[in-house]
Amino acid sequence: MPKPADQPHDAAMTNVSLTDRAYRIRRNALRMGEVQGQGYIAQALGIADVLAVAYFHALTHRPDDPEWEGRDRFLLSIGHYAIALYAALIEARIIPEDELESYGSDDSRLPMSSMASYTPGVEISGGSLGHGLGIAVGMALALKSKKSKSFVYNLLSDGELDEGHTWEAAMSAGSYKLDHLIAIVDVNNQQADGPSTEILNFEPLAPKFEAFGWYTQRVDGNDIEAVAAAFDKARGLTEPKPRVVICDTRMGKGIPFLEQRERNHFLRVEPDEWQKALAILDAGRGQ
Ligand SMILES: [Mg+2]
Repeated sequence: MPKPADQPHDAAMTNVSLTDRAYRIRRNALRMGEVQGQGYIAQALGIADVLAVAYFHALTHRPDDPEWEGRDRFLLSIGHYAIALYAALIEARIIPEDELESYGSDDSRLPMSSMASYTPGVEISGGSLGHGLGIAVGMALALKSKKSKSFVYNLLSDGELDEGHTWEAAMSAGSYKLDHLIAIVDVNNQQADGPSTEILNFEPLAPKFEAFGWYTQRVDGNDIEAVAAAFDKARGLTEPKPRVVICDTRMGKGIPFLEQRERNHFLRVEPDEWQKALAILDAGRGQ
């Protein structure tokens, strides 16, 4: 499938590889984390490869016009992943890089939980979990009624699979045959209270979505080529079904001492560890 014509606009940035995009998204997230000294850093490092593919391979959008009617919508229902989304929006030049230092501060456009009214490129507000897929269903229905070709992507977490309305939305999407809806489930097997499959076991996950009428793929979410191929297949499919790409990701990906840290849902990182993490990331660039 050809790359969408509307992204990115900046000719100097068009030859940046997806691997480099993911590196820069991780770097932006770590720099924002350093501003606050803590945060949902492990999730951001884990989902960076998926966001690189989304914003620099899959989505049709206009960085200089984030509300362009013809755009694909990217809905983040996990409000606490805002740091990851901002990192991608900064890399996409939808948010200026110099705002990075304001992350989480009063009067910043980058609050610690995503807010649609605050931030360009943020489509919905997060916070209460489990609402994103339902909103995505409504948005996809509305676009379908307008005969729009735009896709609606919804990134949700494995913790959100505990929410009953996630499955009500999944059933609705299958029932309405929403073929321009692409759900992305970040399966890092962590949520606030511990390993997600131990809190409420959602496995086997792929057959559940299939049973609800979805075209289902499951990939290593830290394998950029596999993620890109899955997104291509999801977009190119002609079957009248919603699509889901289940992405298995590793919390803290790329920074071994953060990958190995226990209880890494919300990380407190010592002041001297941020530069250590950035140095490890820089040393591993392109690998
Ligand atoms: Mg999780």
